[in-house]
Amino acid sequence: MILLTDKSKCCGCSACYQICPTECITMQEDNEGFLYPVINQDECIECGKCVSACMINNEIPSRPKLKAYAGINNDDAIRDISSSGGIFAELAKHVIKHQGIVFGAKFNKNWEVIHDYTDKMEKVSSFYGSKYVQSNIGQSYKQAKYFLELGRVVLFSGTPCQIAGLILFLNKKYNNLITLDFVCHSIPSPKVWKLYRKKVLYNISKENNLKESYFSHISFRSKVNGWNDFHFECIVKDAKTVIKFAESHKINPYMAAFLKDLSIRPVCTNCLVRDHKSGADITLADFWGVEKYHSRNNRLIDNKGASIIITYTDTGNHLLKLIKENIYLIEIPYEEIEEDKLHSPITKSATKNRYRATFFNQIDKIDIEKNIKKNIRKGLLRKRRNKFLKISIQNIIGKQAYTKIKSKLK
Ligand SMILES: Cc1cc2nc3c(=O)[nH]c(=O)nc-3n(C[C@H](O)[C@H](O)[C@H](O)COP(=O)(O)OP(=O)(O)OC[C@H]3O[C@@H](n4cnc5c(N)ncnc54)[C@H](O)[C@@H]3O)c2cc1C
Repeated sequence: MILLTDKSKCCGCSACYQICPTECITMQEDNEGFLYPVINQDECIECGKCVSACMINNEIPSRPKLKAYAGINNDDAIRDISSSGGIFAELAKHVIKHQGIVFGAKFNKNWEVIHDYTDKMEKVSSFYGSKYVQSNIGQSYKQAKYFLELGRVVLFSGTPCQIAGLILFLNKKYNNLITLDFVCHSIPSPKVWKLYRKKVLYNISKENNLKESYFSHISFRSKVNGWNDFHFECIVKDAKTVIKFAESHKINPYMAAFLKDLSIRPVCTNCLVRDHKSGADITLADFWGVEKYHSRNNRLIDNKGASIIITYTDTGNHLLKLIKENIYLIEIPYEEIEEDKLHSPITKSATKNRYRATFFNQIDKIDIEKNIKKNIRKGLLRKRRNKFLKISIQNIIGKQAYTKIKSKLK
């Protein structure tokens, strides 16, 4: 029987919940809004399936990468509604065109983020674009297994931990499975997302005198001001009025809570599958800093979004070749990415924010925007104070002595 003694190691992939033959495991939300397995011990038959499907109990090795590429979708309209270069869209469309099934994360009608599947071209666009919330994976692994056993090609896309969870759940190599993940900074709490979207709806409705208002569109990665300065964007409507709201990720409180590691799942600061361990056939990423390496390549540096594509398997490389006509693709040396600080999430986990606990302790007590801003400000003040202290000490004892003492303390 799975015993979750250290919650901070659980990524919530839900492989244990989906593999349990007696359905005695349920995924339940904790006070921070993340799902964790809860076991009904009376119904457990001690089969051990949940234990062997759990990432915590498995040594996951790093793998050699096959190739790295820079790429963009030739269709600017697709790139515009994708987060980076629109590569996912082309992979997904290819699979559907060949009677395959695509799994991905989308908004449901309440704007919660869930995993779902489709074999319809007109529905695949609901998966486009990064949603900065942990998706509820539901029964997706079971559903994927069902289609795989039928012999259908399945493209399963998700976070690295969702892909690792799927592979452990399946525990068998399927030649008709293609797995796709992305370089993942971390994954924010669905509860923070729920509180924030309620607040945004309230703010916009109040400012504009809207009655019975609702969202008709939400994007975490709008390119309204270009790809580099991506915006949180939404459209709020009522019977008479339509209001469009967009705010740069540099000032948007929800994005700040995510990027400053305030609202993220605890395990993300000690990710078990970072560093090429997820088992995915292909990994996508934003090609931040592309202009440093490809300054003369006007296609890649047009500020409409460029992707990094890393392939690990022949399956991944083969699929990429099949979509070559619809994307602009160039092979790049992998070192170009790994040595760049902008891509540190490939190998480094998110940092522990010292104000995270305070933030979550106050989540039901104070307004979400105030809570985020207050705790972000505390972090900034602390950073400034430390910088000031460092400079003052260096001025007194000299830079060299300071560096010496610091390295000794490490
Ligand atoms: C939470 C999160 C953190 C990320 N962190 C980084 C990072 O630190 N560095 C970096 O370079 N790139 C990061 N990315 C990935 C990046 O932003 C792009 O999504 C990726 O490069 C693919 O872009 P695209 O234009 O090809 O396709 P897009 O259309 O933008 O990608 C959509 C794909 O992402 C999946 N997806 C979207 N939201 C979720 C979600 N909540 N859970 C699971 N799957 C989801 C969809 O199912 C679909 O497969 C992150 C993405 C997410 C969702």
